Order: sequence, then structure tokens, then C-alpha cells
Amino acid sequence: MRAQVLSQAGRPLELASLADPSPKQGEVLVQVAACGVCHSDLHVMRGDIAFPTPCVLGHEMSGTVVALGEGVANVAVGDRVATTFIMPCGACPSCWRGQEELCEKFFALNRLKGRLYDGQTRLFQPDGRPVAMYSMAALAELSVVPATDVFKLPEGLALAEAAVLGCAFFTAFGAVHTTARLSVGETIAVIGTGGVGLATIQLAKAAGAGRIIAVDIAQDKLAAAIAAGATDAVNSLAADAPAQVKELTGGGVDAVVEAVGRGETIVQGVAMARAGGRVVPVGLAGPAATADIPIAHLVRRKIRLMGSFGARPRADMPVVLSLAASGAIDPSAAVTRRYRFEHAWQAYQDLDRGEVIGRAIVVAAD
Ligand SMILES: [Zn+2]
Ligand SMILES: [Zn+2]
Repeated sequence: MRAQVLSQAGRPLELASLADPSPKQGEVLVQVAACGVCHSDLHVMRGDIAFPTPCVLGHEMSGTVVALGEGVANVAVGDRVATTFIMPCGACPSCWRGQEELCEKFFALNRLKGRLYDGQTRLFQPDGRPVAMYSMAALAELSVVPATDVFKLPEGLALAEAAVLGCAFFTAFGAVHTTARLSVGETIAVIGTGGVGLATIQLAKAAGAGRIIAVDIAQDKLAAAIAAGATDAVNSLAADAPAQVKELTGGGVDAVVEAVGRGETIVQGVAMARAGGRVVPVGLAGPAATADIPIAHLVRRKIRLMGSFGARPRADMPVVLSLAASGAIDPSAAVTRRYRFEHAWQAYQDLDRGEVIGRAIVVAAD
């Protein structure tokens, strides 16, 4: 099969031939239809986040099941599926507690070593040298995925666009529901209106948020946020964003989702929350990044600062899919650019330059 291989951080992706992978027990082989273009891959490509190379990135995918390993019962050959970027092992203490987003094997074996849960990769170069897998390594024609993060798509959803359910919408769902626990009528600010930010706005609207304030530095991204359901837009280059959010809401929002992953924007989020409000950072950063939080304000105003990573695949992804099936959220509206598989590197360069509004996807050649 063909795959987009990162030979070394800082180098462009290269289209290469790899051996066709095969699924082992509890795994699913998917013919990839589309892969979402996400900043987390970019962090690895640039070397901000350490990951073994050579590797295949791409962690937000849709496609069709072509083969099953032993013991897989939740999907069948021919099913149209989407996968979540977190691949729970299903057997570690965190998975048993129901906190699949904290799966210990996912971090220890996949995120640190690029392997699946028998400690091996499924990807090899033609000469037998191993290739690391970032999540399910979806920037390829075929992908082996643990069945715990493979979900059958409801009828009527566009297959390629459904790819963005598995990271952008999944991460947004975790932020809005699992972590912030947004209630009907509450106000929310969303800082950073890229792919995850727009998905957060769609989900906040679906959850009945009273006011949804989009905060970004790019006017075209703010316009997209209004189109996605934001009630207000604040350009934080042009205005004192926390002051403006407080003015709009009479004292601050109930919840803030920070989807940028920068110290300054987390500090802004803390300043935008009402007393007793929740601030939920979801944007990833390198391990050295920090945020300079004013302690007295955090303590006296009882601001709750709550990190959120993805969501719980088997508890939350079925809800994300049912919201998409009912039309309450629309993955297709979040997808603004499509790149052919051969042009994946171009997609990530455009994302890096801030040119992508919403989410781009890389689609398989037909
Ligand atoms: Zn992602
Ligand atoms: Zn686990």
C-alpha cells in the first residue's frame, strides 16, 4: 500500500510503499476514505512533540472495513466506520474506571513508541524495517485499528467528512460535556476557532448554550465561527478580549474552552470566566510550554481550570455519532478543504501557515 511517511521531524512527508498491514486479534483493517488534518500531527512533523521516526501520522479517519482480526464483534466487513484518535486498550486500570481517555497503554505504547498493544507496529517498509504508528496511522491507504475505537457510521452521513468526528468533534465533545459539563442556557467562550473550536461551537449550540462567544485573531475564522453558531465574535488582536467577554455577559462566561494551546490564551480564558466558572484547555503544546496564571484571582474567584484530552471513545463516540445522525451537529459543515492523498504535505503546510479555516481532510484517490 501507499502511505505518507515522515522520515524525520522537520522533513516533508514522503509518499512511499509499505507492506500491506494485517489485523491481529481484536483489530480491524480499514480502507481509509479520508483523514483529518490536525495540529497534533503538525506538532510531531515540526518536532515540538517527540515521536519515533520513520512514522505514519494521521489520527482522525473514516473508511470501510475490509478485514477483521479474531474476536471482533462490533463491526463487520463492508461497514462504513469512523475511528477515534484515542485507542483504548480496554484492560488497564484507567479503562476499567471508565476513563478511557487516560488509557495507560495508549500513552505508554502508542503515544511514546508508535506501537499497538502487543508492543509491535503493524507497518513495515518493504525491506522489513518497522515504521511507527501515530494513533492508527491514517495517512495511508490501509489502517489497522483496535476494535475499541472503531464505530459504525449511521446511514446518511458523508463518509469522507465523517473523518473529522474522531478528533475535532470527539475532543470538542469531551471539553463541552465530559469536562465542562455545560448545562442548557449557560454561556461559553471558545478561544481559537480552528477545527476543534468550530466543532466546540456546534456542540455548544446543540447543548442549548445561552451565548457562544468566539475569540480569535483572524477575522475570517471569526466569520466561520458565526456561521457555525457562535452568537458573538471577539477579535483579541483588536480588543481586550476578557474585558469584552465580561461586558457581553455581565461578568464573565460559565465556561471557556481554550483550543489554541498557548499560555497567553489560557490566561485570557481564566480572566474571561465568571466567579466559579470553568476553564477547559484542549489545545496541545510542547512539554515545555507553561501558563502564567494569577493565583489570587484563581483562588478567590474559585475558577476551575480543567485539562481535557479527547473524550471516552466507547461512552462518548456513540453520542457524537447520534448527534451527527440527527443533524444536531454537521461534520460536513466543518470541512472546508479537501486535498488528494498525494498532496497531504501541502495540506499540513497550509495548516501551518494558518490558511485553513475549519478543518481540511485528505481524501483517498478513487
Ligand atoms: Zn487531532
Ligand atoms: Zn487502557
